Amino acid sequence: MKGKINKLFSTGILALTLSLGISPSPIPSEFSPPFASAAPQQNSSSFFDNFELVTSNDENYILQFTTAKAVKVKVSYSEKDGKNMIMLDGTGQGFKQTVKFEGLKENTQYQAVISASEGKTTMSETIYFTASSDPKVTVPSKEVSYSMPKSEIGIESHDVYESEYNGEKAYADPLAPATPMYGRISCSASDQDWFKIDVSAKTNGKLNVFLDVPSNKDYELYLYDANGNYLAKSTGGTGVDELISRLGTTPGTYYAMVLGFNGACDDVQNYMLVWRFYPDIAWPVPGSDTISDYFGTPRGSTTHKGLDITWWSSGGSTWKYEIQAVKDGYVSYASGSTADATAGYYVKIDHGLYNGKKIIARYLHMESQPLVSSNTNVTRAQRLGWMGNTGDSTGKHLHLDFSDGSSYYDPLTFLAKPHSNEVVDYWEKNGQFKQ
Ligand SMILES: [Zn+2]
Repeated sequence: MKGKINKLFSTGILALTLSLGISPSPIPSEFSPPFASAAPQQNSSSFFDNFELVTSNDENYILQFTTAKAVKVKVSYSEKDGKNMIMLDGTGQGFKQTVKFEGLKENTQYQAVISASEGKTTMSETIYFTASSDPKVTVPSKEVSYSMPKSEIGIESHDVYESEYNGEKAYADPLAPATPMYGRISCSASDQDWFKIDVSAKTNGKLNVFLDVPSNKDYELYLYDANGNYLAKSTGGTGVDELISRLGTTPGTYYAMVLGFNGACDDVQNYMLVWRFYPDIAWPVPGSDTISDYFGTPRGSTTHKGLDITWWSSGGSTWKYEIQAVKDGYVSYASGSTADATAGYYVKIDHGLYNGKKIIARYLHMESQPLVSSNTNVTRAQRLGWMGNTGDSTGKHLHLDFSDGSSYYDPLTFLAKPHSNEVVDYWEKNGQFKQ
């Protein structure tokens, strides 16, 4: 994209009903034609309709609206100056949508952006409102009513769009892991978009770069190393999404480039680009990046022989945290129905060698009997059980230790914490694990 995307979406006429003391604020001139204050009006090109802002029994604001189809909807809202943007997500799919706004300040103007995607198309509407001084309306801080809003799990998130000029490597947009980046191949000139990928890990791994292509376009994806040397490409035909997947990728800097084949371009539809890195030795608790104790810390007359990973501060101790095998291996022991007095329910796995170093891992203090059995094989990232507090443990956590057969060593020799947005990404996909 040569220029900045200012107006990303259509500007369909919005039908909005405001009630219970909430009144619309003036609309900035750039949003003319004026905000519709007349009777609700259908807009067949919009996914949304019948907006209504009400207060709920617990005195939060509830925004209700219907979608024309069962599309996934995202809502963000902020004070009108654009600060403190909060993304609500996970409102689910369906024709009737309900979103709760919390923590609004009285007599403050807000804007809310509601967007929905279907296939390759994303649309959004912006509404404006002022929190009323109506005594019924307080500044509550209640639990939200839907499963996994990002605001609850502590990460503010925005859809990310390509920046201004990124048509060559030197101006590449940084592309965070597991974070979709939206962009367009402009028709005004032969456009190409460059993105920078920084892989940080302690082992090699699989790098996946995925391009979601508009259904009627032929876009291609290229991958380069830190010096701009070509590494790989994915060049499917019209409407075919592109994927570059490279095993044995070394941590470091890479560049992805998107272009239109034979001049393919689109000034309206976005593509979406995202990458993920799967290190050869996986983080054992994908839902938490919280380390509560390290290898080697003093423990009375001895030292801690492993790495302790506990629940995620933004999630809480009552959520379920799955424990995964860090690598393929052979289960030499898995607890039966009885927990060990010290180790609790646990699993011991021989993961073989990595870079010449033997990895015999123990996963201790599981919540209940492991999901794998002794004398069986497991694969990398296979679920072994759930984080718990069994055995000699003073709180819910995983104690993971690595041994080479004669002595213990630091698991962080090979393990790298996941990025916080990868943890968020995990919970978005696995909200059912929340208790
Ligand atoms: Zn421990």
